[in-house]
Amino acid sequence: MPASESSQAGCMLAEDVRRYYLDTMGIQVWQSLEQQLEGIETDVSGNSDVIWQQLAQDVSSCAKCELHTSRTQTVFGAGNKNADLLIIGEAPGRDEDVQGEPFVGRAGQLLNAMLAAIGFQRDQVYIANILKCRPPNNRDPKPEEADACNSWLQQQIELIQPGVVLALGRIAAHSLLNTDQSLGALRGKQHNYAGIPLIVSYHPAYLLRKPAEKRKSWQDLKRIKFLLNNNGSST
Ligand code: URA
Repeated sequence: MPASESSQAGCMLAEDVRRYYLDTMGIQVWQSLEQQLEGIETDVSGNSDVIWQQLAQDVSSCAKCELHTSRTQTVFGAGNKNADLLIIGEAPGRDEDVQGEPFVGRAGQLLNAMLAAIGFQRDQVYIANILKCRPPNNRDPKPEEADACNSWLQQQIELIQPGVVLALGRIAAHSLLNTDQSLGALRGKQHNYAGIPLIVSYHPAYLLRKPAEKRKSWQDLKRIKFLLNNNGSST
């Protein structure tokens, strides 16, 4: 066997051994989408339906953090899987936990109105959350819960490949941008998430409490519309 092949075989063996030990310890290994695709057959039209179905099934049985014990069901995400705009909120609330869909309560109704203001129906965008499960009493997600849930959202983003990401509220912005800057400092500018333009804005639940901030939220929405119309370029 040529040296390059034998070292490749050696690497694969080492990888198998590593997986065996991690499996034995009950540690799940995150695989890149490409690695997963190797094991999953796409349907005849070559689209990604099978991958989405597998992902949704994996999420629905997720037990990576303690929230699986208190949820009614997981809230996977909803909308257009080829959306230009991906909206990421914090975590399901009571209504979402019951209905299994993100942003269906009062905050969701305001989000629908905000989207309509820039010419989008809800089903034209994709909506997801940092967490797939409701934290008890709507408390803030714990960092370890966000970490445990992260790979699900990563995979959704890789599949959707949106043109712009909108992070709604402090929790989503902090988690996606790995920062603890205030929301005031984060909004009003363009960020970058894995090469995708990311805009931070107020969470609709906050806007319900502070309607005067809707004016700033409108500025953010107009920035998003501009980015989408200009293929992610702000100039
Ligand atoms: N708030 C969120 O952040 N996400 C939801 O899905 C609902 C309310």
